Amino acid sequence: MSSPSESRITHYASRGMVPDLLKLIAERAERLAPRVVRFMEVCGTHTMAMFRSGVRALLPPNVRLLSGPGCPVCVTPMGMVDAALEIVRRPGVALATFGDMVRVPGSHSSLERARAEGADVRMVYSPLDALRIAEAAPHRAVVFFGIGFETTTPAVAATVAYARDRRLANLLFLIANKVIPPAMEAILAGGEVKLDGFLCPGHVSVITGTAIYEPLVARYGAPCVVTGFEAADILEGIAMLLLQVVEGAPRVEIQYRRWVHPAGNARARERVAEVFRPCDSAWRGLGTIPESGLALRPELRAHDALEVLGVGVPPELENPGCSCGAVLRGVLEPPQCPLFAKRCTPATPVGPCMVSTEGSCAAYYKYGER
Ligand code: SF4
Ligand code: SF4
Repeated sequence: MSSPSESRITHYASRGMVPDLLKLIAERAERLAPRVVRFMEVCGTHTMAMFRSGVRALLPPNVRLLSGPGCPVCVTPMGMVDAALEIVRRPGVALATFGDMVRVPGSHSSLERARAEGADVRMVYSPLDALRIAEAAPHRAVVFFGIGFETTTPAVAATVAYARDRRLANLLFLIANKVIPPAMEAILAGGEVKLDGFLCPGHVSVITGTAIYEPLVARYGAPCVVTGFEAADILEGIAMLLLQVVEGAPRVEIQYRRWVHPAGNARARERVAEVFRPCDSAWRGLGTIPESGLALRPELRAHDALEVLGVGVPPELENPGCSCGAVLRGVLEPPQCPLFAKRCTPATPVGPCMVSTEGSCAAYYKYGER
């Protein structure tokens, strides 16, 4: 008879592989015992998939999974939320952004609250929705508040290029897009948590390819496996990481071969490079990381909301009592935050990790790990 966790693995075509993968994981973990190995999943979708499928509960006790800074909503610093709030208070300005961003608390309010007070805040599913709003209201400044990693940034880049080519002067961009590898490196360099490897993000790697992970192997000896999102993908990724640890031979490997090619998608990367340049960027919990963000190229200044509207980004702050920074660094598990499931719930989020559908605190809350 299968365990309750095992019986949750029902939605994957290759679920027949699960018992074999679990056996492989158990054997490899046994060879490392009593040493505890810690792998970080660098992707909010992995976090959600692991909870949904019950994968975490199937692992041997000496294999632990930590959630990393893989949700773009969670890592957006409070200063950017405050800048968005200042922008939307300007007369004649509408601000469009993804749903979760609307609920993230800034230092004194949220976009959701500003909207209830009369501000023009629109929830959109894609930057193209913001473009349509701008085209339909040429006398209104429409600001797209962009967040996201390598996966979603090409769509933002295409929208910026469209606004430039069509001389759509009323479409502005507040850009908080980031790239993942510098954050992975910052966690390793910080040394607060001893990591034995990364389950690297599948969707990000479709665009970037795998060369971006080579420096993590070369400099820090960190095993990296690009992994898909089904239960069997994740289990296979863990088995591959364990083998690297057993062999003491860190390398970059691809488990998610049906989507990820080592070279990635060069065309999408060219698109991004056409409108963005790398810049230093603040991450919630990780501080400012060199070359980890994207800024509009100088020739696109006319579409830069901060420049055009003369708004500054306040320095990074944290809500008092909120431990999101430590959660994002893998130092603390959500239930260890004193506010978890008490003052902080999905209905009353204190920090972004409880807001975003890909946030670790929201995942722990929803799937009952308290
Ligand atoms: S953007 Fe894609 S790769 Fe990044 S956290 Fe979300 S799902 Fe994972
Ligand atoms: S429980 Fe709430 S306050 Fe605590 S870390 Fe998570 S989101 Fe932040």
